[in-house]
Amino acid sequence: MNETLGKPVWWEDALPVDLPETALPSQTSVVVIGGGFAGLSAALELRRSGVDVTLIEKNWPGYGACSRNIGLVTDRVAGTSTGDLDGLLHGVKRSDLIEEGWRSRDYILDLIKRENIQCGLRQRGELVLATSKSVYETMAENLKLLEKKLGPVGAYMLPKQELHKEIGGRASKLYHGAKVLQENYDLNPGQLAAGMVQRIAELGVTICSSVQLESVERLPNGTFTAITDKGDITADHVVWTTQGYSGKETGHLQKRIFPFLAHVVATEPIPRDVLLEMMPTLRGAADTKQMFFCFRPCDRDSRLILASDYFRTDDDYKQSKRILKSYRKLFPELGDIKPEYCWHGNMALTSDQLPHIGMHEGMHFSAASSFAMAFYLGSKIAKRILNTDRILNTDDTATLFDDMEIQDFPFYSGNPSLLYRGFRMLFNGMDYLNIAAPK
Ligand SMILES: Cc1cc2nc3c(=O)[nH]c(=O)nc-3n(C[C@H](O)[C@H](O)[C@H](O)COP(=O)(O)OP(=O)(O)OC[C@H]3O[C@@H](n4cnc5c(N)ncnc54)[C@H](O)[C@@H]3O)c2cc1C
Repeated sequence: MNETLGKPVWWEDALPVDLPETALPSQTSVVVIGGGFAGLSAALELRRSGVDVTLIEKNWPGYGACSRNIGLVTDRVAGTSTGDLDGLLHGVKRSDLIEEGWRSRDYILDLIKRENIQCGLRQRGELVLATSKSVYETMAENLKLLEKKLGPVGAYMLPKQELHKEIGGRASKLYHGAKVLQENYDLNPGQLAAGMVQRIAELGVTICSSVQLESVERLPNGTFTAITDKGDITADHVVWTTQGYSGKETGHLQKRIFPFLAHVVATEPIPRDVLLEMMPTLRGAADTKQMFFCFRPCDRDSRLILASDYFRTDDDYKQSKRILKSYRKLFPELGDIKPEYCWHGNMALTSDQLPHIGMHEGMHFSAASSFAMAFYLGSKIAKRILNTDRILNTDDTATLFDDMEIQDFPFYSGNPSLLYRGFRMLFNGMDYLNIAAPK
């Protein structure tokens, strides 16, 4: 495991992409800071319209959460699955926000097809496992209301007595039924990131790896100088897509985006019959706890990908043991199957858990905790710039998050450790009292 400690299984054969070393130019039209999905999506959209784009990444493009996640294509906007569908969340109807989430999913699926990116995209569906009878009933009720309001949504409820059709082990006894999202997709996020990097490189985006942005100055003529550890670059537009890796150089963003750290394990290959015993339909799954279990089969072979049990440590080895131990409670079949990869990544958590997009001191930014939304918001930023520069004249720039101001994260000033412990206590408490919101 030594060689694979800290390295996502998704990086195998995919990342980092072999790119020629590129010096930082002194001038560009748009400088994008952060080579995750939001940044790559913005760069692609801009470059497709012929704009001169420079992407600055302090590691290498694809290094962040974009290639460290589980790979479930999520279209859920936080806070929309409970409460009245006509009720307002920050002034926007919940049902409208649900549809905005669907638009983000459609956007990424269309982009993968359009750009012909091979990333193991599969429509296997996904399970939401209910951790109590009342959660199951609430999920069923919410699903009915959703179908009444928006029509068929490609989901159905599976009662406890039929759960064994979807999930084996002790899990089928522990959970109280599930919502089956039969049309959901999963993919290999490493291949998606690599495909995006290759595409923007082919199109001529200037990609500067190992360049850290340190600050940005606004010039009297409205343009910007981005100051990096490798020199300065002037640009007409600046796009911040640093997400859960936003440090103090990001100014106002750092206090508004909490880097919620999560660990993931990929097991050693599991015999197929054992895997099918645990997950007969091979759908990815997450349960409804706050400290949730989330797992799926790996796309390339019979490994299981497991995430849970948030714990703020950089010790991937220790954490891999803890994760496997907790999953053996769900699946005793895991027996002495060992973790082979373990890594961690930062999710970009905002105080209202909603995605955000906007401008601050003349610079664009976005924040999202799902990768479909990161792609979607990145493309919206690009279209706004294309409109401003009169390269396009499109009204496809608006989102329902436009008027939602990104707020400071309470009690967070840049050091996540203390707050993280608080989160764990709060989430454990909510799970103990069984009051997590059904998904
Ligand atoms: C463990 C885990 C599991 C997840 N599972 C899922 C899932 O199943 N489904 C889903 O939809 N979402 C999931 N997510 C969330 C999803 O991965 C993120 O929402 C999304 O990838 C983040 O956006 P991004 O890709 O644009 O940012 P990132 O990939 O995080 O990119 C930000 C980049 O900015 C760079 N950067 C930061 N500061 C600077 C600077 N000063 N100068 C230059 N570069 C800088 C960083 O190095 C980093 O590469 C998960 C996240 C984690 C961590």
